[in-house]
Amino acid sequence: MTEIATKLTQVQKQIHDACNQANRDPQLVTLLAVSKTKSAQLIQQAIDAGQRHFGENYVQEAVEKIQQLAHNPELIWHFIGPIQANKTRLIAENFSWVHSVDREKIAKRLNEQRDPNITPLNVCLQVNISGEQSKSGVNQDEIFSLADFINNCKQLRLRGIMAIPEKTDDTEQRLHRFNSLFDLYQQLQQRYPDVDTLSMGMSNDMPEAIASGSTMVRIGTAIFGKRD
Ligand SMILES: *Cc1c(COP(=O)(O)O)cnc(C)c1O
Repeated sequence: MTEIATKLTQVQKQIHDACNQANRDPQLVTLLAVSKTKSAQLIQQAIDAGQRHFGENYVQEAVEKIQQLAHNPELIWHFIGPIQANKTRLIAENFSWVHSVDREKIAKRLNEQRDPNITPLNVCLQVNISGEQSKSGVNQDEIFSLADFINNCKQLRLRGIMAIPEKTDDTEQRLHRFNSLFDLYQQLQQRYPDVDTLSMGMSNDMPEAIASGSTMVRIGTAIFGKRD
């Protein structure tokens, strides 16, 4: 067994345990392996261990690896990094999902650049919940107008929301933030019944995210080790 395979098994067990604790079905939590800065060779080890969903942050780096790994059937690539307008075409052409849409301009470009002959691009809005320092993410008062806009884009499919809550060692505070995201997710679901994705939880806060209703956890370090 490769080291990556061992780590993947550990993470899957943690997902299982967190779901059991929260009385949730583990099948409803997707593991997204975040492979930014990691080589195609290491990603291949994860693929050989059965991993299918991969998340990348840097367009150029990602596209190179997607091409190197193109012989693997059924890989699902997710773009999760900040989006510059001049990179939208490469995202529209190479990814199945994008989690980090935070403004209309980007949604509009992705919609225009997505090939209408393939399946629509799955989209999560990146939201900036209160108490967050990072500048990326749509503010709470603009979420529904952006969601409406995306919902009207033919080549995009609105799937849910993504967030990166500010790091804190305070477990209560982490739970509180995750719970507000879950509330927001439910509001979005009421308006758009197809919404099924709450992308939250990373290596250092996965159990709390799952307890609060995450349906997709984005795990890098716990699978591939520290990044340089
Ligand atoms: C890097 C990154 C992750 C993974 O973080 P880890 O702490 O290594 O698990 C998840 N989500 C986003 C948006 C990232 O940029």
